[in-house]
Amino acid sequence: MRLILFGPPGVGKGTQAKLLAQDHSIPHISTGDMLRASAAEGTELGKKAKAIMDAGQLVPDDVMIGIVREVLGSPRAARGFVLDGFPRTLEQAKALAKIFQELKIAAYWVLNFEVDDEEIIRRLGSRLVCRTEGRILNRETDALTPDGRCPECGGELFQRDDDRPETVRKRLQVYHAQTAPVIEFYRASGVVVDVDGTNSVDVVHREIRVLLEDLQAP
Ligand code: AMP
Repeated sequence: MRLILFGPPGVGKGTQAKLLAQDHSIPHISTGDMLRASAAEGTELGKKAKAIMDAGQLVPDDVMIGIVREVLGSPRAARGFVLDGFPRTLEQAKALAKIFQELKIAAYWVLNFEVDDEEIIRRLGSRLVCRTEGRILNRETDALTPDGRCPECGGELFQRDDDRPETVRKRLQVYHAQTAPVIEFYRASGVVVDVDGTNSVDVVHREIRVLLEDLQAP
C-alpha cells in the first residue's frame, strides 16, 4: 500500500497516517517529523529548517526532494509507505513522479483531506504533541491525565512552535498559494480519494478503511 496524505496543516494527516501505517504495517514518513528531528539534533539542516518552519514557510524544494528520494529508496519503504507532508509544491510533485518512476512504483493513492480554515485554526490552537511517542492530542477534545500529560503513556505534552496563531495563519496562506493547487496534478491521474476530515479521528479512520477496501476490491 502506497499512500500520499494531502491537505492543509491541522487537517488530521499525521494522526490518520499513524493509524494507516499501523493497519498496513508500513512506515509513516512525515517530512515535518524528519525536519523536527533534525532540528532537535541540532544539525545544520535542522537549524536552517527550524527557522523556516517557525516562520510558517516552506523548506526549499531541492532539500525536501533529496530527503524524500533517500527515504523512499531505502529498504524500510520497499513494501509501501504513508507519505505525510510531501509534496507541498508542484515542483515536489513532479520530482516525486520521477522518483516513483525510478523505483518502478505505479500504484498509489492520494488521500485528500478537507477541513475549512476556521476549524483548522481552532484545532491547531489546542493541538498538543506527546514528547515520548509523538502522539497528537487535542487539549479540548482528548481526555488528558489530571496533571495534563499523555493519557496513553504519561509523556509530557507540548505545543509545536509553529502552532502559534500568527504562524498558523502564515502556514494556511502558504498552503492555499503553493500546496492546494498541487491536487489538480493528481486529479488528472485519477488517483485522488477525497476524505472529509471534519469528523472525529475514529470516524475518519473508518471512512478511509472503507474507501481503501473499495479501491482494492477486484
Ligand atoms: P508538518 O509537520 O507537515 O506540518 O510540517 C511542518 C513544517 O515543516 C512545514 O510548515 C514546513 O515548514 C516544513 N515542511 C514539511 N514538509 C515540507 C515539504 N514537503 N516542503 C517544504 N517544507 C516542508
